[in-house]
Amino acid sequence: MWRDLAPIGRHRGSGGYRRYAWTAADAECRTWFREQAEARGLTHETDRNGNQWAWYGDPSAGDAVVTGSHLDSVPDGGAFDGPLGVVSSFAAFDELRRRGAEFVRPFAVTNFGDEEGARFGLACVGSRLAAGQLTPEAAWHLRDQDGVSLPEAMEAAGHDPGTIGPDPERLARVGAFVELHVEQGRALDIGGDPVGVASAIWPHGRWRFDFRGEANHAGTTRLADRRDPMLTYAETVLAARREAELAGGLATFGKVAVEPNGVNAIPSLVRGWLDSRAADQDTLDTLVGAVERAAREHAATAGIDLDVVRESFTPVVEFRHALRDEIRRLLDGRDPGDTGRAVPVLGTGAGHDAGILSASVPTAMLFVRNPTGVSHSPAEHADEDDCAAGVTALADVLEGLACS
Ligand SMILES: [Zn+2]
Repeated sequence: MWRDLAPIGRHRGSGGYRRYAWTAADAECRTWFREQAEARGLTHETDRNGNQWAWYGDPSAGDAVVTGSHLDSVPDGGAFDGPLGVVSSFAAFDELRRRGAEFVRPFAVTNFGDEEGARFGLACVGSRLAAGQLTPEAAWHLRDQDGVSLPEAMEAAGHDPGTIGPDPERLARVGAFVELHVEQGRALDIGGDPVGVASAIWPHGRWRFDFRGEANHAGTTRLADRRDPMLTYAETVLAARREAELAGGLATFGKVAVEPNGVNAIPSLVRGWLDSRAADQDTLDTLVGAVERAAREHAATAGIDLDVVRESFTPVVEFRHALRDEIRRLLDGRDPGDTGRAVPVLGTGAGHDAGILSASVPTAMLFVRNPTGVSHSPAEHADEDDCAAGVTALADVLEGLACS
C-alpha cells in the first residue's frame, strides 16, 4: 500500500506531499482508496460530503465500528500524517481476516475529505459538514487562493456540491470511531513506547494582534521620534515564548503581515497571529492573558495602539472515557511493542477528524511513535516496526470491539 501511495502528489523539489482537497492528487488518492476497498470485497461509497467509506457488513444494522483517517496533506507534508491511519485500517482488517475473526458488528474504513484545510483554509471540512459543525452556506463561501470556491472545486472533481450538509443518519450508524495517527510530537519517543492511546485534544485558538504606529522614513526619522510597532511586536513574540514556558503550554507567532512592508519604511502596522494551545482551558486562558498583558504594557510605553481579536477557538476534546478505557483493557497484556508496560495515555495539541466526530459518536485515537516528533514536513517519519505495532494494536482493538 505504501508503494502505491508514495508517488501520489509528491513534489519533486521538496520531496513533500501536496495532496490538496479536490485536486488531481486528491482524486488519485481517492481512486487508490476505492481500489483497496474493492480488492477486499468491501462496499465502497462516497458520502454527500465527499468522505469515503469501505463497508464490511450491513451499515444499516447500526452500531458500526469504524476506523480511518485522511489522505490529504498540508503543503509539503510528510507521508504518514493521515495515510498511516488509512493504510493501518486496511492492514488491520487484513490481519483480522487472517485471524479468522467473526465480525458481529458492521465495520468500515474511512477517508475523511479535506482534513488539513490546506486549500480552503478550514481544517476537517468533511467531518465538520457531516457532524453539522460547518453549515453548507459557510462551506459554499470557502475559496482557495486562486479564488476557486469549494463548490466549484467539488464540481470539477465530479462531486455534487448540492448535497453537502449534516449527515446525522450516517453518523448514527457509527457506534465507535477509532483513528490511528502518527504522533505529532515526541511523547512516545521520550517514554520509549511504540503505541499510545489519546486522552484528549488540547483546547487551542488563534488570536490576531494588530500593532499600529506611525509610518515614516527609515533614513531621516530620529530613533527618539519613532512610533515603531515592529519593536512592540518583537517584545510580544519574546513574551509569548516566556509565558508559554512558565505556563507549560504552547504559544507561536508563525505569521506576520507588515504595512507598508518597505525595507526603508518604519511600519505603520504590524499584524501578528498567535496560535496557542495548552492541556486545559485554565492554562490556556492564563497563557494568552499573560501574552496580551505583556503586549499592552509594551504598547503603552511605546505609544503603540493595540487590538487583539480572537479569530478562532476550539475547546478541549475529551475522548469518551468508556471507549478509551475499553481500548486500554483490550491492549492490556497484549503489549504491541513488547515493552513490558501498559500502553500509555497521552494528550495532543493537534486537531483531528476524531476530535470533530467526538461530539456525535464515541471516538478514540491511537498514536504511533514518531522518533523526531517532526510532522507537517517531509522529514516526518515512523519506523516500520512501529507501524506494524500500530497495525497489531488497531487490529486488537477492532477485534475486541467488532468481533465475537
Ligand atoms: Zn492528520
